[in-house]
Amino acid sequence: MIRVDVTTFFFIMVTLPVVFIVISWLYVEYKHKTKESKPEGQVISRCDICQFPFMHDKDEEIFKCPRCGSYLEIKDKKS
Ligand SMILES: [Zn+2]
Repeated sequence: MIRVDVTTFFFIMVTLPVVFIVISWLYVEYKHKTKESKPEGQVISRCDICQFPFMHDKDEEIFKCPRCGSYLEIKDKKS
């Protein structure tokens, strides 16, 4: 049998769950952050046919509506 001091025993019984909770929390936070969409470089446009708003890349000149599938073109590009 392993002999452990009372203070060591309570130290282990307190720190192990805390370490487990902190590691689980960091893991969940990391997973949540990687799932988030990154809207940098994207703009919101509205389909001319079905009026469905959606996001697409800022650099795209021709893009496809995700709802009706029609191809759309940016008309007022400032450059
Ligand atoms: Zn559409």
